[in-house]
Amino acid sequence: MALERIVKPHIRSLQPYQPGKPAEELERELGISGAIKLASNESPVGPSPKALAAVRAELGNVHRYPDGASFGLRSALSRRLGVHARQLVFGAGADEILEFLAKTLLGPGDEAVFAWPSFAMYPIVVQGMGATPVGVPLDASYTHDLDAMRRAVTERTRLVFVCNPNNPTGTSVGAAAFDAFAASLPESAVLAVDEAYVEYVRRSDFPDALAWLERRPGTIVLRTFSKIYGLAGLRIGYGIADAELADYLQRARHPFNVSRVAEVAALAALDDREHVERSRRVNDEGVEYLGRELTALGIEVWPTDANFVLARTGPDLHDRLLREGVIVRPLATFGLADCVRISVGLPEENERLIKTLRRLLESAP
Ligand SMILES: *Cc1c(COP(=O)(O)O)cnc(C)c1O
Repeated sequence: MALERIVKPHIRSLQPYQPGKPAEELERELGISGAIKLASNESPVGPSPKALAAVRAELGNVHRYPDGASFGLRSALSRRLGVHARQLVFGAGADEILEFLAKTLLGPGDEAVFAWPSFAMYPIVVQGMGATPVGVPLDASYTHDLDAMRRAVTERTRLVFVCNPNNPTGTSVGAAAFDAFAASLPESAVLAVDEAYVEYVRRSDFPDALAWLERRPGTIVLRTFSKIYGLAGLRIGYGIADAELADYLQRARHPFNVSRVAEVAALAALDDREHVERSRRVNDEGVEYLGRELTALGIEVWPTDANFVLARTGPDLHDRLLREGVIVRPLATFGLADCVRISVGLPEENERLIKTLRRLLESAP
């Protein structure tokens, strides 16, 4: 076939992202109902009622293109974060900001450094530009090994990702380690700090990555409305960068990449502090519950600063849970074949997971 000869080799060899299985798909496959999905770190609380009202009010305007500058959301976020409006870049999810970074900075011969296991999109966007992904193993506690990452940075490195808290392990790096790392990076690499889960963080010495925007040009912090704000299906996220980097990233962006509906929903969600607080509380309680109950079942769990927990369940439990209608994320493709990532659900979902696990463990395979 001729296509095989003309498609770029780095696209041909790309391993596509494997999303969590939708509950509807599992129900169709098994002929069951009532499956629960704890596999994609979505908010179990759902979207803010204020965001839903804003979406409904906007639907009559969808024959119009969106405001390509996202003026309303840009103003609100710049006030909220204490940054200049020019420093913000919006994307169809934070995923799209990763694409802008790759497109702006990477080509064949360039390298991008990130921890591994970490967010599966990093190697995909890097390889998508024909550049070289450099994954640096996590340390023994499954935390970013920032010293090893610093040693992996060469004169060919154009981009360094720090996923904090880290997906899929839930671990985070503290201010002292992060600040030393950021200060040590050469100017020839952009530092991208992925804070998709920042609103869930529990540790008190979490780094102030935004402070590095002034100290270190060539720095960007990524955030999203997909996690605590509960808008994953609408696709909206953003980057906060120094003004010069933001200006370059804007050139890589299509003018109408964020829909009208997503923008108004994000703006309303941002203002609904009560909804964010409730989502955080539900998560805190779920993290406590899952940690306690999984440990009681003899399953090792890692401390988490996010809305999911890493659990060492053994290699076959993922499939057995699936057959019971409970979807968690297998981590074999990350090199963690005996672990799963469990997204925190509503109390009744967490209880169903624990009850199912207990039953499966009692009736050994
Ligand atoms: C979920 C996630 C994102 C972004 O998701 P979007 O839905 O594209 O905003 C980015 N980084 C990490 C580590 C994530 O887990």
